[in-house]
Amino acid sequence: MSKKRMNSLVEPFLIRNGSTFRLKRVDPDDTGGFHGEKAAATEALRGSIDRLRGLQEKLYAQDQWGVLLIFQAMDAAGKDGAIEHVMTGVNPQGCDVTSFKQPSAEELDHDFLWRTVKRLPERGRIGIFNRSYYEEVLVVRVHPELLVKQKLPARSTKTDVFAQRYVDINAHERYLARNGYVIRKFFLHISKEEQTKRLRERIEDPQKHWKFSLGDLHEQARWPEYMEAYEHAIRHTATPHAPWIVVPANRKWFARLVVATAVVDALEEIDLAFPPLTPDRRRELEAGRKLLSARVTRARGGRGPRNT
Ligand code: ATP
Ligand code: MG
Repeated sequence: MSKKRMNSLVEPFLIRNGSTFRLKRVDPDDTGGFHGEKAAATEALRGSIDRLRGLQEKLYAQDQWGVLLIFQAMDAAGKDGAIEHVMTGVNPQGCDVTSFKQPSAEELDHDFLWRTVKRLPERGRIGIFNRSYYEEVLVVRVHPELLVKQKLPARSTKTDVFAQRYVDINAHERYLARNGYVIRKFFLHISKEEQTKRLRERIEDPQKHWKFSLGDLHEQARWPEYMEAYEHAIRHTATPHAPWIVVPANRKWFARLVVATAVVDALEEIDLAFPPLTPDRRRELEAGRKLLSARVTRARGGRGPRNT
């Protein structure tokens, strides 16, 4: 598939300026130009994953940029599957995935970014966050009682905690961007009906029983509040250096294609290149070449220099 078509695939869902964003403008059933053609999309996904492999090798060799991919979604939206597909395109040595669950007592004893800062990728690597500090303006916004456990001083809770957090998150992401991080944030957007279908499968299919949690149904009952929280978060934190991609996710095959292609696009936007050859490295390579040919000559019974 041409690069142009692939770019325009992500563009409608890429939010670089959140101020006018409306969640209802993204249809979870959307399949872009694929009009439901799963086979064509799967083929395109393979293409994106191949490109990703080449780009990651340069990222790793260049050792200059860090890549942070954040995944947020309602339960059963397919975060794990999307992450798994991106991972098939990268060398596991250059990639780390961290899942953020309910914070531990130790984590609650720190500021809300602390646990994620510890898991930021090194330069040259890709870090994937399965949930993230965005939970602090999503689940915590829907369940403000969680704030009590965070032991914030009164002066922090007198003003709108969530408005403060948007500002702090933006400042944090700007800081990371200035320090060489490429950031992409994915919201896998499913409809409530699709979630019901998937949660029912978890109950009915013995292979999926382990994934079911009654808590997911309690959260589903708060659906409109979650959607409002997502919309607000995206409106306030989509920026040119840390955009959101609101991925229509009712069709898993389309969601995975959008995610993989968005990662490829992000890596193609930066100046990835293998490190240039310094004179020292050039000499080292030349010395290696001579040494190897001498060994080959000797092994064939020829006369090469000694002690090599
Ligand atoms: P799955 O899609 O398979 O259910 P999951 O990411 O939902 O995976 P779970 O162990 O089911 O994983 O849930 C993690 C839970 O932790 C979520 O309900 C999430 O809202 C919650 N959580 C994550 N971060 C925070 C936070 N900072 N404060 C409160 N709850 C959080
Ligand atoms: Mg869950």
